[in-house]
Amino acid sequence: MHADLEQLLVLQDREQKIRQIQNEIKTLPLERKNLEGQLASSQAHLEGLKQKAREVEVHRKKLELDVGTREASIAKLRTQQYETRKNDEFQAMGNEIKRYEDEIRKIEDEELELMDQSDHLKADVSTEEKKAAQVADSIKRQMGDLQAKGKTLEERLTGLTKEREEIAAKVDEDLLDRFERLFASKGDAAVVALEHDICTGCHMKVTTATSVHVRAGKEIVSCEQCGRILYDGAAG
Ligand SMILES: [Zn+2]
Repeated sequence: MHADLEQLLVLQDREQKIRQIQNEIKTLPLERKNLEGQLASSQAHLEGLKQKAREVEVHRKKLELDVGTREASIAKLRTQQYETRKNDEFQAMGNEIKRYEDEIRKIEDEELELMDQSDHLKADVSTEEKKAAQVADSIKRQMGDLQAKGKTLEERLTGLTKEREEIAAKVDEDLLDRFERLFASKGDAAVVALEHDICTGCHMKVTTATSVHVRAGKEIVSCEQCGRILYDGAAG
């Protein structure tokens, strides 16, 4: 194989690796954001449950106060009943007491229901707290892994960039320029194998003359269809 071609293939290998690593590095912020989203949603879910539990408790306390007010009213009415001498007043107070007692029963039913809800919510909160702690742990670990991955990738990128520069320094300037422009425009490869007279870059058949030149390996030959530089794929 043409010596320049061998250099270009090594150069291309490094550039492809560099590109791959750069793409991997680009996905890191998204992965981090994704993890942060998972953590936030887990915490929001737990916070929602806690908030609901607090609301039920506030409501229950309010009902307790409502019962207390009515009990005080009943006590007051009972005292007044003993003090009155008028039968109709006594009767009216008795009716009022009964009305308060009915209300208290209703409120206490509601309170029982709320206590039941509150018990369930407390159990849910406790379960969710454990889950959220596990999620937070797992996300912390994944964040650490991500950071380590980022560091490794940056190190590999630095190493590859240095290697790439060393190889590029050995390649003829015009050829290097041609290679770089091809590599940038094709996006995958600038130097490709010619196999059975087919360019493996564009999958088109090349002319017999081109094929002969590639096999001879004495000059840099381009595919007439896509412009990629060709090397003889059959020549090991
Ligand atoms: Zn081609």
